[in-house]
Amino acid sequence: MQLTWTDIAKDVPCPVCGGLSDKPIFVTALDHRFYSCTRCASLVCVPICSANYAHDDLSTVSLHHYVQVGSNFEFLIGNIATAVDKNRRGNFLDVGCGFGFGLHAVSSTTSWSVLGIEPAPYGQVGARLLNVPVRPTLLQDAPDVPEGHFDVVHSSEVLEHVQDPLSFLRTLGRYLTADGTIVLTTPNAEFIQCGQSPNALLSCLNPGEHVFLTSPGGLESLIRSAGFDHVTIDSTPQNLIAFASRAPLRLNRAGSSWMYEAALKDLVRTLPISDPIWTGPAYRLLGLLSIAGRFAEADQLLGTILARWPLDMASIENTREFSDFGAKVPFCWPGIGYHAGIINMLFQRIY
Ligand SMILES: [Zn+2]
Repeated sequence: MQLTWTDIAKDVPCPVCGGLSDKPIFVTALDHRFYSCTRCASLVCVPICSANYAHDDLSTVSLHHYVQVGSNFEFLIGNIATAVDKNRRGNFLDVGCGFGFGLHAVSSTTSWSVLGIEPAPYGQVGARLLNVPVRPTLLQDAPDVPEGHFDVVHSSEVLEHVQDPLSFLRTLGRYLTADGTIVLTTPNAEFIQCGQSPNALLSCLNPGEHVFLTSPGGLESLIRSAGFDHVTIDSTPQNLIAFASRAPLRLNRAGSSWMYEAALKDLVRTLPISDPIWTGPAYRLLGLLSIAGRFAEADQLLGTILARWPLDMASIENTREFSDFGAKVPFCWPGIGYHAGIINMLFQRIY
């Protein structure tokens, strides 16, 4: 008779620190077990996942959801604006650029040159719509991308999908100038605690997609091992944001909202209103203006949005499925209604 202890992982190396010590199970999500590294406190997923980005396409409904409400533009652009100096020229590389909103933000608001790497097919959809250059491949399969060339290399929510993160970081480093800055975001292992909402936990763990979730200390050690002597780790409850360089860091901490607002305004101005993609930046700009109390600007934009998407409850009559809702009106439709109410009450004095 053989007894097997299933709550301890043996011989499973930690992708973050390489630690081989026995790892107690921390949480099980769907069919995946996340073990806690006793050396760096990162979470290691078993079985190990391997991604095939080229097949990672989004349906039209998923794409609209991502652009209209799912993607955190403000987080994405805020991190980029912290590293990109608008007062000089430079070269910006976005590895795993997704739809390309980060590339668009830099190219439309600064004099920097941009290049994106995105093997998933929706990268090409974004490239056409946003008029930004995106290579439909992995970075190691793009030999014409010049090494030692980029002043900022950004890679958001990619690291946790990679089986050898140290090698990945060293690869990113090869494309940086000597004093260039790398900007990384990745889920925060410290968020995985009892008491958090199950939806937020599942989104952060993403079982089947994420190879590991790193702790703040594990991430800093990993980045230093990849040859970056200067590292700063910021955090939100769910995410870690790392800025790293071989030279002392030069970050813009004075505020990054200028790039967010300017990029949204450019998208609202240049995208065709008839395209459902337009509604994503328009809704976010409406929220920015409404929350800032800039009601005259907000009211003008609201008029344009409502001309495209009237707040007519008849448009969602007999809608039961989530995807059906998104096919009839934008996923941000309820949010548009919320801001319309705020603007009508506080600006138009309609109660
Ligand atoms: Zn570890």
